Amino acid sequence: MQIADNHVVTIHYTVKTTDGDEIDSSSGQDALSFIQGSHYMIAGLEEALYDKKSGDEFTVTITPDKAYGDRNDNLVQEVPLSMFEGMEVDVGMSFRATTDHGEQSVIIIDKSDDAITVDGNHPLAGQTLVFDVNIEDVRGATDDEISHGHVHGKGGCSH
Ligand SMILES: [Zn+2]
Repeated sequence: MQIADNHVVTIHYTVKTTDGDEIDSSSGQDALSFIQGSHYMIAGLEEALYDKKSGDEFTVTITPDKAYGDRNDNLVQEVPLSMFEGMEVDVGMSFRATTDHGEQSVIIIDKSDDAITVDGNHPLAGQTLVFDVNIEDVRGATDDEISHGHVHGKGGCSH
């Protein structure tokens, strides 16, 4: 069966930077299942999956515009440490914050005596990603799956 919209696609994948550094992989975990066309996956990967079929293996290089977007320098902001009274804050911590761009996940990238610098960009923003993909299974989605917008396990909907 060839992949088209409203098919349930199950893949194993490894994603690397263009330098070959591994970012993430489903190896050793359950394969990932999703509904093609639901935008669960980044656009570049959905595009590459159309018309492929179960058993296919391929590598695709995806530029930021089809992945997590370009970095936005406006999402890097300095925040006075006094706002974190009594809290331990350090470089590398992430938390939800209300910013000029709404609620989003930010990570602390710098700390000085009286301020921290937070970055609200997606960690993979601005990165070109190289995906190695193994297609494990392709099947038509059920009507329930299509109307819910997610894949159901053997026991049906779990929520
Ligand atoms: Zn459901």
